[in-house]
Amino acid sequence: MVEASEPRAIVPLRTHHEEPQAGASQTAAVRSASPEQIEWLARQSQALEGARPEDILAWAVERYFPRFTMATGLGPEGCVIISMLARIEPRVYVFNLDTGYQFQETLQLRQRIAERYGMLIDLQRPELTVPQYEARHGGPLYKRDPERCCFDRKVAVLQRVAAGYNAWATGIRRDQSPTRADTPVVRWDKKFGLVKISPLAAWTQKDVWKRIMDQGIPYNPLHDVGYPSIGCWPCTRAVQPGEDERAGRWSGTAKTECGLHLGGG
Ligand code: SF4
Repeated sequence: MVEASEPRAIVPLRTHHEEPQAGASQTAAVRSASPEQIEWLARQSQALEGARPEDILAWAVERYFPRFTMATGLGPEGCVIISMLARIEPRVYVFNLDTGYQFQETLQLRQRIAERYGMLIDLQRPELTVPQYEARHGGPLYKRDPERCCFDRKVAVLQRVAAGYNAWATGIRRDQSPTRADTPVVRWDKKFGLVKISPLAAWTQKDVWKRIMDQGIPYNPLHDVGYPSIGCWPCTRAVQPGEDERAGRWSGTAKTECGLHLGGG
C-alpha cells in the first residue's frame, strides 16, 4: 500500500515519449484522440499490466490530476479505489451518478465513506428529477425502455461531467462479465472523450473483498444479503447461490450494462 508520507511508487513509463495530445480539430462535445495518442495509451497500459492498483492510480494522479476524476456507484470496487485515493491524492474529484433510483443503503454508504476518508463523494444528477422524468414519459421508463432511462440518467450525466476532465477511473474488473473481459488498464474512452483507467482490471472479486476485510473499508450492507452487484433499486435483485455476480442486474432482460462501459474502446 502507498502510505501518504511515502514517495509515490510510479512505474517508469515516460522514458520514450511524452503523451501525444488531442488535436485542435476536436469538437467541444466529445473529444477524440489521435492514432498516436491511442497507441501511446496502449503502451502505457501494457507497461502498467501487473502493477499494483495503488501504483496505477499514482501514475494517473501524477499525469492527469487535477483533471483526473472518478465515477463510482459505491460498489465494493469503488470503495476500495476511494480508500487508495485517500492516501495518494484525496483532492481527486469523485462523484456518484445519482439517478434518483438508488438504494437508501447506497446513499448512506456515501456518508460513511466521507466520515472514514474525509472525501465527500459529489452527487451528479440528471436535469430532471424522478417525478419530472416520469411525468414526461407517462410513468417509469425503466420498465419499458431501460436503455433510454440509463442513457438519460447515467450516460448523459457522465458525458456532461467528463467534458471537464482528461481522465477518469473506474472500478471495472475483467472477471465481472464477458463484456469486461478485455478491459485494458488504460485506454482512450471514445464514448466520453477522455482517458479511462481501470486500476482493478486484473483483480478478482476475492481480491476486492480481501482488501475490504483486511482494512475495514466501508461497504454496502446489501452485499451481505444477496446483492453482489448493486445499481438502481428497480433494476437490481438479489442473486441465488451459484448465479453470476451480475445476474441480478436488469434480470429478465437482455440488458447487462448501463452503457457507461460499452462502446468506449
Ligand atoms: S439502472 Fe434502471 S432505474 Fe437506473 S438508470 Fe438504468 S434503467 Fe433507469
